[in-house]
Order: sequence, then structure tokens, then C-alpha cells
Amino acid sequence: MEIPRHWRLKKQRYALMGEVCPHCDAKIFPPRDVCPECHHEAKELFQFSGKGEIYSYTTIYEAPSGFDSNAPYTVALIKLNEGPMLTAQLTDVEAAQVQIGMPVEMVTRKMRDDGDERGMIVYGYKFRKRVGVT
Ligand SMILES: [Zn+2]
Repeated sequence: MEIPRHWRLKKQRYALMGEVCPHCDAKIFPPRDVCPECHHEAKELFQFSGKGEIYSYTTIYEAPSGFDSNAPYTVALIKLNEGPMLTAQLTDVEAAQVQIGMPVEMVTRKMRDDGDERGMIVYGYKFRKRVGVT
């Protein structure tokens, strides 16, 4: 039985998709079709585990317009277990609890609401403290 198209799209949107280099096995995020390590073409999709740890972070007390309801919030540079770094907002954690080296995992969260006009809700990934790890 074929999996309906919307199901497949949904899976892609909620997973952390990057690429893997077929030449040197480097994991690439965000996808850029060229390996940053060996500069060969790299177009093979790779699904990241969504797990990593905090490399550095900053807390933002005044959010830009459209994000007001979220302030204050903490944005972290996260080093994924597979190697690449990415910047993402943290969720479900007090700013005072955030530490460099803290294990985190990806979760999907509502980022903002575009209002009634189109009824569009934008989802994206955030990271939260990984449970069961100290
Ligand atoms: Zn490579």
C-alpha cells in the first residue's frame, strides 16, 4: 500500500533533514548540495537524530514583531551529535537553567501565527533539554 503524499511531506517537515557526503561521509546541515569538507557534490538526503548539545547561547528579552508572545527566549548554537552546528530557539527550559554542554533534542513547535487573514500557522523546530540525561 502506498503511503499518501501528505504523509510523506509531513514526515520531511518534522524531521531534521540534511545531506550526507558520499565521498567522505560528512554530515551536512543545512543541505547545500556541496560537501564543506571535501567540496564534492553531496545530494544524498540524511535524517539527523535531532540530538546534540549546547555550544553557546544567548537570551533575547525583546522579540522582533510577530514573536512578541515568546519573549524572553533563548537562542542556542547547537552542535548536533552527527557534527554540524545549527542555531535554534530553546523551549521548555528556563534561561537560568541553560548551560554550555547541556544535552538537547529537537521538538516541533508552533513558531508564529500569521493571524486570521490566511489562518496560516508556521511550524518549525526548536530544541529542549534532553530528558533522562544529566
Ligand atoms: Zn565530503
